[in-house]
Amino acid sequence: MSLKKALFIDRDGTILVEPMPSEQVDSFEKFEFIPGAISGLKSLVNLGYELVLASNQDGLGTDSFPYEDFIGPQNLMLKTLEGEGVVFDDILIDRSFPADNLPTRKPGTGMFGKYLSGEYDLSASYVIGDRATDAALAANLGCKAILLRLAGGQVLDTQQDVDNRYQCLDRSDISQTANNQPDILQAKSWGEIAGFLRRGVRCATIERNTRETQIKVTVDLDGCLQSGISTGLNFFDHMLDQIAHHSGIGLQIEAKGDLKVDEHHTMEDVAICLGEALKQALGDKRGIARYGFALPMDECEAMVLLDLGGRIDFGWEVPFTREYVGDTPTEMFRHFFKSLCEAMQCNLHIRARGENNHHLAEGVFKAFARTLRQAVACNPFDYEIPTSKGLL
Ligand SMILES: [Mg+2]
Repeated sequence: MSLKKALFIDRDGTILVEPMPSEQVDSFEKFEFIPGAISGLKSLVNLGYELVLASNQDGLGTDSFPYEDFIGPQNLMLKTLEGEGVVFDDILIDRSFPADNLPTRKPGTGMFGKYLSGEYDLSASYVIGDRATDAALAANLGCKAILLRLAGGQVLDTQQDVDNRYQCLDRSDISQTANNQPDILQAKSWGEIAGFLRRGVRCATIERNTRETQIKVTVDLDGCLQSGISTGLNFFDHMLDQIAHHSGIGLQIEAKGDLKVDEHHTMEDVAICLGEALKQALGDKRGIARYGFALPMDECEAMVLLDLGGRIDFGWEVPFTREYVGDTPTEMFRHFFKSLCEAMQCNLHIRARGENNHHLAEGVFKAFARTLRQAVACNPFDYEIPTSKGLL
C-alpha cells in the first residue's frame, strides 16, 4: 500500500486574517479570508493530499476565548470552503495557552499522532502556515514548510526569528532545485503555493535502451522543467525545440541512435518515448480537453487535429518535395508522428500545404505543439474528465 500524503494547514494568518491585537477570530466582525485562500485551497483538492486543518486557539473554551465566540466564524469558514469543494479530512485544534507548554500546542506534535504512525509519507507532506512556528512544526513532523508571506501583509514573526532558526529561501531560488528542495518555501500568495504544489504532478520519464538506440525522454506538462534536446540530428532537434517552445511543455530528450545506419531508428524511437511519456504524464486526463490548431507559415498552411480519447487513428497529408531538410529525411516526419500517435494512443490528423519544405516541416511541428498545448492544458478548477463515458 502506498503511503498517504497530507497538507497540514494553519488557520489564522493563513486562511483567515489574524486580527490584531487579540489574535483571535472571536466575532463575525473579525472574520475575513486571506486573499486567494479559497481559490488556492480549491486548486489543492485532488492532488492526492489529505487536507488537515491544524490550529492553535489560545485558551479556547476559557473566559478569554469562549467556545461560542469561536464556533460561529469557524463554521462559516468551513461551510464557505465546503461550498467550493474544499473539505478537510481532519481538524486539529489545540486549546492551550503558550505558558501551558503542552506538547499538543504547535509546533509540538502532540495532536499529530495519527500522522506519525507510519501510514504517511511525511517527507512528501507540507505544513502551510504563516509563522516560524509553522516551519518548526514541519521540522518536528519531518515534512516541509510553506510559509505565506503576503506582499504588504502582516508578518508576525520578526525576520530575525525566522533567519535565526531556519534557512528561509525565496521561491525564485527554489524553482530551480526540484530535486534538492530546501525544507522551507516562502510564498507571496496562495497562487504561488498552489502553483508550487501542483508542479511536478504531471511529469513522466521514459527510458528505452535497445541495440539501435538509447533514449531518455522527460516531459512536464506544466512546463516547470527546463527543456533540452539532443538527438544527433540538427534539423530534428530544431523541430523538437518547436514542440517544447510552442507547447509550453517542459521537454528533455537525450537520444543516441545508430545514425551511421540511418535516421530511422532514432526518430522512430524518440517518437515512441515521447508519446509514452506524454500519455503517462497525462494520467487520467482530468481537466484536459480535445483540440486542434491551424497556422500559416509564410506561404505554407499547417493544420493539426488531436483527440486524446485513447483510440488510435492517424492521418497525414503533407506533400514534401525534397528528400531531406537539413540532415533530416522528410519521409521520416510521417513516421515520427505516426509512431508518436500510436504511443500516445490518440487520433492525430495532420495536413499541410506549401512549397518550402522547411516551412512545411516547421509549420507542422508548431501546429502540433500548439494543439498539444491546448489539449493538455489543465484547468486546476475543473476536475471533470472530458467525456460522457467517465473514462478516456
Ligand atoms: Mg498562523
